[in-house]
Amino acid sequence: MLQTIEAFDRIGEENAFAVLARATALAQSGKDIINLGIGQPDFSTPAHIVEAAIKALRDGHHGYTPATGLLATREAVVRRTLTTTGVEVSPENVMIMPGGKPTMFAAILMFGAPGVDILYPDPGFPIYRSMIEFTGARPVPVPIREENGFAFSADETLALITPATRLLIVNSPANPTGGVTPRAEIEKLVRGLDAHPHVAILSDEIYDVMTYDGETHTSLLQFPEIRDRLIVLNGWSKTWAMTGWRMGWSIWPNGPESGHLYDKVRKLAVNCWSCVNAPSQFAGIAAIDGPQDDVEKMLAAFDRRRRIVVEGLNALPGFSCITPKGAFYAFPNVRDTGRPAKAFASALLEDAGVALIGGPDFGVLGEGYLRLSYANSEENILRALERIESFLAR
Ligand code: PLP
Repeated sequence: MLQTIEAFDRIGEENAFAVLARATALAQSGKDIINLGIGQPDFSTPAHIVEAAIKALRDGHHGYTPATGLLATREAVVRRTLTTTGVEVSPENVMIMPGGKPTMFAAILMFGAPGVDILYPDPGFPIYRSMIEFTGARPVPVPIREENGFAFSADETLALITPATRLLIVNSPANPTGGVTPRAEIEKLVRGLDAHPHVAILSDEIYDVMTYDGETHTSLLQFPEIRDRLIVLNGWSKTWAMTGWRMGWSIWPNGPESGHLYDKVRKLAVNCWSCVNAPSQFAGIAAIDGPQDDVEKMLAAFDRRRRIVVEGLNALPGFSCITPKGAFYAFPNVRDTGRPAKAFASALLEDAGVALIGGPDFGVLGEGYLRLSYANSEENILRALERIESFLAR
């Protein structure tokens, strides 16, 4: 890590936020904008979760909590992890974080430095690369290919590892592609990592429950052989429609062989944010332990919309879109339209009133693609598809 002001000049952006700002400005100027740009559920946080936060405030939970999070919230994460992965983790390895991003930041900060290589998916969530560059490490893109269903290829990933590699970032189900890496491929990757004990792994599993067509998510937690070098990122933002609450969790190793990573991230929390706000932590418990009907409804809605989006996109001239198996994104290939993706995305916003993101905002392999978030109503998705169609016919 270069502690210089120049390091800050290497920090990138998440263009989805810039597109959101532009879409909001256009909407405020009276334009009718359909927003398929931002990656957040269009549902409200379920009422019983909101009530839990209100109750916590009324009950006087206004102070600091432990930097690692309330024990009760960490224990809720332990229960949830057991349900979704079958793996029993200890609350002593769970950090409650202000969202998913701080885990990314902490993990990349721990391993990144000049002379170090960090492997990250391309196309992938843009913050990975941005944070790697901040630390002065070399970002090494792992190609995520359409012909591979936008899954990680174990062989291609392992071939990129060198003695300089310190961290591998894995993300499935994935943003921006909706790709889900099959279990067999993850097993192969884990087996291959055996030969590279110097490589730690950050597994971003924030979309873990969002899989479709019978596809299932494989958590890297299910492989004990890598547990002492594995950090798992997860959180409340997507699953319970809680993006604005800033609630995430992560699971860190803490044995001497891991370098006591959990102690390190706890110290970082003490130095940076003290703790996540207390009422949100109570809401987080209610989210995990309460009824999951709203989550089920949201997932069913995403699944319906996914089919509508894919069918609609494939009917557009020059578009082809594989059916995403996870998250809430479609990543159509638009090469045959002959339009560069970023310019295309911006023309669609300015001239057709449809906000979406150009693939290059997610990496060099994103050229030729657009990302549509289908976290919007069926009606709006259909209107957006019509608008894109008439834009193309102009
Ligand atoms: N990881 C991935 C893959 C994401 O897509 C996102 C949000 O878009 C995050 C992490 C960050 O989540 P949070 O809003 O909880 O920081």
